[in-house]
Amino acid sequence: MAASTPATTPATSPGGALALALSEREELLGHCVHCGFCLPACPTYQELGDEADSPRGRLHLMRAVVEGRLDPGGDAFQRHMDRCLGCRACEPVCPSGVEYGLLLERARSVAIEARPAGLLTRALLATMASPVLGHVFGAGGRTLRATGLPALAARALPAGRFSDAPRLAMGMLAASGAPRFEPAERGESNAPAAPVGVAPGSMGRVALLAGCVQDQLFRRVHEATRLALRVNGWEVVEVKDQGCCGALHAHAGALGEARTLARRNIRAFSEAPGGIDFLVVNAAGCGALLRELPELLGEEGGRDGMEGPAGALSDRVRDISEILAGDGREPVTGAPLPLRVAYDPPCHLLHAQRVVEPPRRLLESIPGVELVALRDAERCCGGAGIYGITHPDLGGRIGRDKVDAVVDSGCDLVATGNPGCQMQIGAGIRLGGHTIGVAHPVELLAESYRRAGWT
Ligand code: SF4
Ligand code: SF4
Repeated sequence: MAASTPATTPATSPGGALALALSEREELLGHCVHCGFCLPACPTYQELGDEADSPRGRLHLMRAVVEGRLDPGGDAFQRHMDRCLGCRACEPVCPSGVEYGLLLERARSVAIEARPAGLLTRALLATMASPVLGHVFGAGGRTLRATGLPALAARALPAGRFSDAPRLAMGMLAASGAPRFEPAERGESNAPAAPVGVAPGSMGRVALLAGCVQDQLFRRVHEATRLALRVNGWEVVEVKDQGCCGALHAHAGALGEARTLARRNIRAFSEAPGGIDFLVVNAAGCGALLRELPELLGEEGGRDGMEGPAGALSDRVRDISEILAGDGREPVTGAPLPLRVAYDPPCHLLHAQRVVEPPRRLLESIPGVELVALRDAERCCGGAGIYGITHPDLGGRIGRDKVDAVVDSGCDLVATGNPGCQMQIGAGIRLGGHTIGVAHPVELLAESYRRAGWT
């Protein structure tokens, strides 16, 4: 194992002030017993073989900053925090329960305070946070996607050029389009079943998080979610004044912006007309953040009276798969959808929210769907929020492994419940010259319902 030892430069600035966000959580750093059990689970360590690109190494760097032994603006801290995917695969395997994701967000906050994030990262985060810019970005993206040019650009790429950033971006945009559901080589009957749903509203009242990227490029996933909720007896309450959840900002260390966005959503959903039983989320990264609202707000939540509402809302957050196929529930059966499907669990659903079985049960409930095994399914696809765009080389290397596993599985379609993963895997498939589709699990269920006659 190669290992780079970070320089122990004295903290140049204001070590204490800069490291405040991390120091507040210093006791969590002490939970690491340096056992190394997390190393095999870490994609960046597996790719780079560098201890400083492992969870244990990064925790060591964080401690060095807190203790004033390392400059947070220096290359060692900046590079190794930046390279982390934030996939949190290191958390479930850690015997000491180190809350790595929470520490990483604080560490990145320290890092960008010492050295501002790059222009591309700042532009993407500003676009997501602003409803106006978000709409412009979304409208532009949908228009470009409709021309078919992004798909053409992706198809024109020779295999092995996954790390070409502009073409990767085109591949991602093309991959955000609607999937095909017919396997090319098979033609089984799609005869509709009799549409018998659950009595409207009998299960309870839910709100749906619109989000930013999901709302702009994956509105069809929201439509599928609404149909599946309706068929299964859930009333969907409209909540205005909601917006981007701030997950991308938190993961990048922009905690101030993330907290501002979180407060807006806490107010909006807490004041939902008539109240809600659950806040349904169909994007894993957003769900993970919303489940950790009290931790995000930290002491600030107590100071401005947001602590209680934040905790109450977090307790109500559910992934769409949990609502439909969790707690012993079985989704209503639709019409056959004869497809071989590989399920790729998004890291923020599997590792951060620990939602394991419901997505599989949801897919297994669809007649005709055959779930096929996916090698290293629990490993990150390299998308990791905006990582695939900001780190096309390392993200591309990790993404190629995922695409190889998808191709080897022999599936017609890969199902994954997060927009970033859909785009990253879909781009890799296209750039590799394959035609395998990518869809959210709830899109498959909704397609099965549509074939059964529900609209
Ligand atoms: S598994 Fe946990 S305790 Fe062990 S080195 Fe990794 S973070 Fe530290
Ligand atoms: S979050 Fe993922 S990439 Fe980062 S240290 Fe943990 S396992 Fe490695």
